[in-house]
Amino acid sequence: MRREGRQGALWPGLLQGSRHDGAGPRTLASGGGRCRGPVDPFMSEVPLEMTTPKKLFIKTYGCQMNVYDSERMAETLGQQGYVATDTANDADMILLNTCHIREKAAEKIYSELGRYRPLKDANPDLKIGVAGCVAQAEGAEIMARQPMVDLVVGPQSYHRLPELEAKARRGEKALDTDFPEEDKFEHLAARPKAKRGPTAFLTVQEGCDKFCAFCVVPYTRGAEVSRPAERVMGEARDLVERGVREITLLGQNVNAYHGHARGLSGLIRDLATADGLERIRFTTSHPNDMQDDLIAAHGDCEKLMPYLHLPVQSGSDKILKAMNRKHTAESYIKLIERIRGVRPDLLLSSDFIVGFPGETEADFQATLDLVETVGYGQAYSFKYSARPGTPAAERAEVDGAEADERLQRLQALLTRQQKAAQDAMVGREVTVLFEKPGRLPGQMVGKSEYLHAVHVTSDAVARGDLAKVRIVESVRNSLAGVVV
Ligand code: SAM
Ligand code: SF4
Repeated sequence: MRREGRQGALWPGLLQGSRHDGAGPRTLASGGGRCRGPVDPFMSEVPLEMTTPKKLFIKTYGCQMNVYDSERMAETLGQQGYVATDTANDADMILLNTCHIREKAAEKIYSELGRYRPLKDANPDLKIGVAGCVAQAEGAEIMARQPMVDLVVGPQSYHRLPELEAKARRGEKALDTDFPEEDKFEHLAARPKAKRGPTAFLTVQEGCDKFCAFCVVPYTRGAEVSRPAERVMGEARDLVERGVREITLLGQNVNAYHGHARGLSGLIRDLATADGLERIRFTTSHPNDMQDDLIAAHGDCEKLMPYLHLPVQSGSDKILKAMNRKHTAESYIKLIERIRGVRPDLLLSSDFIVGFPGETEADFQATLDLVETVGYGQAYSFKYSARPGTPAAERAEVDGAEADERLQRLQALLTRQQKAAQDAMVGREVTVLFEKPGRLPGQMVGKSEYLHAVHVTSDAVARGDLAKVRIVESVRNSLAGVVV
C-alpha cells in the first residue's frame, strides 16, 4: 500500500510527521509509508476470488484502522470479481479510503479526484468511489462537487459495497453513509484463506464517546462499539492459520474495548493462548482507560510487546481541560510510572497537539517539561487544526507562525529522545520478527519487540522467522544487527 504524508508532525498513521505520515494515501499492492511498521503488500499476497477480471485500485489515507478497512473492502469486492492493481491507470474501480482528522482533508480528496478525470473520460465504465471518514463527513456533497464519483460509502457501511458497486455499475449513484443497526463485521464476507505476511492489523473497537474538543472521530466514526471477543478470536485464529505471527489490535480508543468480560486485557490474555500467535500489540489507547489488569498484562503477558502508544496531547493542565481530556499531566506521569513499574523496558510513544486554542508559551513549556520527564522512544506531534463541528473550532486560534515554531521545538526534542532510545539498543540482544527482504542483497528486515526496524544480512532467516539479533549499529530510522 502506498500512503502520502502529513507535513510537519508525527503520528501512527496520521498527520504530519518525520516518523509518520498519514493523511496521505497508501495503495493496496505497492507497500510503502510508515504506519508504525510497514504494511503488508496485502493484495499481492492474497489472491481474491475472481469471477471476471476487474481491477481495483484502492488508495488508503490515514491510520492503521483505514489500512485494515481497505483490506476488508478489497476482500469484499474480491467476491465481486475484483483483483488488486497498483496503478489507477488500468483500474475498473478506483476507491479512495479517506481520513478526515486533519484540515483540508476533503479538499485534498477533491483535488485527488480531479486527477482521475482523464481516466474517467477515456473509460466511462471506470467506477470511482470515496470511502472512509471524508465520505462520512461530506456525503452527497462529494457527488455534487465531483459528479464523476459513482459511489460514496462511510466507514460503518462498507459491508454493503457489493450492492453499492452493483448500483454504480447500473449507472446509478450509490451513496451509503448510514450508521447501520447491523454490525458490519458480521456481514462482511469470510476472509480469504490464502497465506499472508507475518503481521496483521485486527480492528476490535471502533468509534469514540470521549469527545475531545479537537477531534472529529466521534462524529465520523460514531459511538464506541466493541466486537465480541469470540469473533475477534475467530478472526485471529484465521490470521494465524494464514501465517500471521503478530497481531496489532486496533481501535480509535482500543483500551476502552468491552467486547470481553475482562475488557482489553481479557482479550489479550485469551489471544495469548493461541498457538502460533507470538506477538500482540494494541493501539491507540486513552490514558483514562488503562485499567489495572491491562497494566498488569504488560508485566506478566509474555506475548504482549513492550511498546505502548499512549497519547497525552499536552503537558498543560489548563490545555488538557480545554481539550476535555479528563486527565492531568500529573495523573499521566503517575500512570506511566505504574506501567514502567511492571515493565521497565517499555518503549513509550505519544501524540501531541501544539497550538491548541488558548495555548500560551507557558503551556507549551509545560508540554516540553512533560516530554523531558517521561522520555519517549517514539512520538507523533501535530499542529492543531480546527475541525468543523468540533467545540474547539469555535475558539480563537493561536498565531500560525507561533504554532509552527513550537511544533519545530517539540519535534526537535522528540527526535533527540527517539534517537537516544534507538542508540541505546546498540549492544543489546532483541528478538526480531522478520517481515521482508531489505533493499540490499541478502538483507532481511523485521521489527524488534520495541517496534524498531532491524535489518540483518543473513541467509539464516526467512520471512516470518523470529530470531535473536544483537544490535551492532543505530542508523537513521533503523537498527543493524547480527543473528546470534
Ligand atoms: N484516541 C486517541 C487518543 O485519545 O489520544 C487518538 C486518536 S486520534 C484519531 C489521533 C491523533 O490525531 C490524536 O491523538 C491527536 O494528537 C491528533 N489529532 C486529532 N484531531 C486533531 C486536530 N484537530 N488537530 C491536530 N491533531 C489532531
Ligand atoms: Fe478523538 Fe481519541 Fe479523543 Fe476519542 S479519545 S475524541 S478518538 S482524540
